[in-house]
Amino acid sequence: MKLLVATRNSNKVREIRDKFRGLAGLELVSLDDIAPLPDVVEDGATFEENALKKARETARLSGLPSMADDSGLEVDALGGEPGVYSARYAGEGATDADRNSLLLEKMKEVPEGKRSARFVCVIAIAFPGGSELVTRGICEGEIARMPMGAHGFGYDPVFHLPEKGKTMAEIPLEEKNRISHRALALEQARRLLEATRP
Ligand code: IMP
Repeated sequence: MKLLVATRNSNKVREIRDKFRGLAGLELVSLDDIAPLPDVVEDGATFEENALKKARETARLSGLPSMADDSGLEVDALGGEPGVYSARYAGEGATDADRNSLLLEKMKEVPEGKRSARFVCVIAIAFPGGSELVTRGICEGEIARMPMGAHGFGYDPVFHLPEKGKTMAEIPLEEKNRISHRALALEQARRLLEATRP
């Protein structure tokens, strides 16, 4: 079975290839391997809505089983912000550093013990026949007082992992790829694909 991964992010494609290695009969193709498709607007209120919309649209337009993800950071003291707006937090043209500064500024008065947060990743797979699979991976942590570390991307430098005593940007990428929200969602997706095989 061909599975179209609805992303042009080569890091994501590499991570998915790694997690799905050895899945018999599965051939992964990315948006770069097929004729151009229009971009899907991510305007859902939840990670599930966005991932499902992207997977469904891509399956409809390509005729192939299609997999899409949506992910972001939820901070409890901010009522779940930035959530589905994680990529756009701090506005158009802002950098990862701008978004991290804004987040730390909003969290300035929040005391230890109330700085809990989680990375969330939802993966949706839509089949042209109409069936769908959805998985959710969660990685719990806390918002740090200042950015630390140079690995990873996005909010990794301000996401502290209490059991490791380090931020997500201070641990090696191989370690992140074992514990991250995306890793957990992908491992569940792999198990579901194995279980639903004809
Ligand atoms: P997307 O699902 O790739 O659109 O990611 C949405 C946004 O969530 C990214 O632009 C990042 O700001 C944030 N994000 C998602 N996954 C991670 C991660 O593993 N580390 C840090 N930030 C992340």
